[in-house]
Amino acid sequence: MKILVASNNKNKIREIKQILGDIFEPISLSEAGVESDPEETGSTFLENAIIKARSGMEVSGLPCIADDSGLCVYALNGAPGVYSARYSGENATDEKNNELLLKNMADVTDRRACFKSAIAMVFPDGKVITAEGECPGVMIYEYRGNNGFGYDPLFLVEEYNKTFAELDGEIKNKISHRAHALQSFREKMKEKGII
Ligand code: IMP
Repeated sequence: MKILVASNNKNKIREIKQILGDIFEPISLSEAGVESDPEETGSTFLENAIIKARSGMEVSGLPCIADDSGLCVYALNGAPGVYSARYSGENATDEKNNELLLKNMADVTDRRACFKSAIAMVFPDGKVITAEGECPGVMIYEYRGNNGFGYDPLFLVEEYNKTFAELDGEIKNKISHRAHALQSFREKMKEKGII
């Protein structure tokens, strides 16, 4: 079954292909020749994932899968949360977001955090399947590692004593919030008899 991934982010598309590629043929927005960039007005990752998946389905007519994800820091009451991509404002970049986070956590001793991901798939008949996943870690004080993107260089996975940016991509793709959400999504699709 051909499905649209409501993203042009190569990392996300690769992860989706790795975990669901045996059941679906995932194609990106640009491969499908469509554009979809709805405003992410939801107050949860799940709401935003559904907004993106529904918009992608509407512009393409294909079943559409979307991910919404971000970093939640315990001591900051879950921030940056759904604002992860735009934490430092309108012209946010990964660098600016990380700098602001380090500044806001300068006096914070409880460094616990969690990456969260919500996955939604919306079908042309209106059916919606969703799943969520998490990956716990701690925020460190200095950048470590060159892989990945976003908050990866500040997010330490204690089991490996490595940041997401130091971990091999293959390992990150096994333990990440998105990997857990995609696995759970796969199981739900099986339970519901869709695959
Ligand atoms: P989204 O693309 O709207 O889901 O926004 C996700 C934002 O959350 C990204 O711009 C990153 O700042 C952050 N994020 C999500 N997943 C990761 C990850 O695996 N590593 C680092 N940052 C992430």
